[in-house]
Amino acid sequence: MIAFLCILTSSLLLADSGRGMNGASRCYLPLAPSLSRAFHPAKIRPYKVRGRTVSEIARSIKTRGPYDHQGRFRYSGYYRWFVSFGGGMLKYRSYVELPCLHRIPPGIRLRWRRYLYVLARHELNHHSLFMAGIGEFQQSPNSTSNGYRQRTLASMRARDREWDALDVVPPFDKF
Ligand SMILES: [Zn+2]
Repeated sequence: MIAFLCILTSSLLLADSGRGMNGASRCYLPLAPSLSRAFHPAKIRPYKVRGRTVSEIARSIKTRGPYDHQGRFRYSGYYRWFVSFGGGMLKYRSYVELPCLHRIPPGIRLRWRRYLYVLARHELNHHSLFMAGIGEFQQSPNSTSNGYRQRTLASMRARDREWDALDVVPPFDKF
C-alpha cells in the first residue's frame, strides 16, 4: 500500500513527461497547466485500477472507486473536503481521488487520457468551488458566528450538488 501512496499535488502534469514521483508517472494524468495551476493547487490521491480491456477497466473503477462521504456509493472520482473551527480558527483540507491505471494498453491510451481529463476537470472544479467558499469565510467579518458558518457550509454543499447535476461524467466504457 505504501508504494502506492503517492499523494501528489496537481503539478502532476510533470508525470506526463515521465518525471512524476513513485508510481505517478504511470498514472498518466493529463492535466494541462491551465487546469492544474489556474487556482490553488489540489492534492490528488490516486487509487489503483487494473484491466486490459475497456470493460475490465470500467469494472475495476466501479469496484475500487472511492465511497461517498456517507460510505454508501462508490464513485469513479471524488472530491473530499473538511472544514473545522477549532479554537476559533478556520482549518480546512481537501483532496481529489482519481483512478490510476498502471500499464495502459496501447490501444486504450487516448481513450484513457480523454476520460481522466474529463474526470479530473470535474473534480478540480469542485476544488475551485471549495476554495471560493473558504475565501468567503476568510473575508467575512461574521466568520465567528455559528449561524454564518452553518449557512456558508450549506451553500458550499449546495454548490457541489449543483455542479454534479450540471456536469455528469459518464463511466469509462462510454468514452
Ligand atoms: Zn462531482
